[in-house]
Amino acid sequence: MMFPKKKWSKKKNPNWPIDETTKKKTKYHSKTQKCSLGHIHHSTGECGYCNNLLLQTKCTPRLVKSFKTQVKYSLKVNGKQITNHFVDFEVIRPDGKLEIHEYKGFATAVWAIKRKLFEALYPDIPYLVIPHQPKGRIRIR
Ligand SMILES: [Zn+2]
Repeated sequence: MMFPKKKWSKKKNPNWPIDETTKKKTKYHSKTQKCSLGHIHHSTGECGYCNNLLLQTKCTPRLVKSFKTQVKYSLKVNGKQITNHFVDFEVIRPDGKLEIHEYKGFATAVWAIKRKLFEALYPDIPYLVIPHQPKGRIRIR
């Protein structure tokens, strides 16, 4: 006996779970995703990195005390406000020292300038660029 061909449609079935966070596509065709802390991240990789940092605060608190996401840094030159830079991750070490972890899949020209301005204006804060890992693998330092 043949079953009638019926397509299992997301639209027709109201019980199909639709994840609002993965529906939208961003500018660089990466999917937004929610991490364990409930942030909406711009990519799966960035989301994975956030989960990884959270794990580090629990497993290796001697290395990572805490961290914040999307922290605003004002970029001022000679007292004049140029722009703001929202960094992906501001990592706080147990000694209180800050470190910036920027997860990058695609380096834009604007970001490159912001990074240079940041490094010039905040020389005491190390700025680490975390290259996108194509298969979602993240190096643990
Ligand atoms: Zn997160």
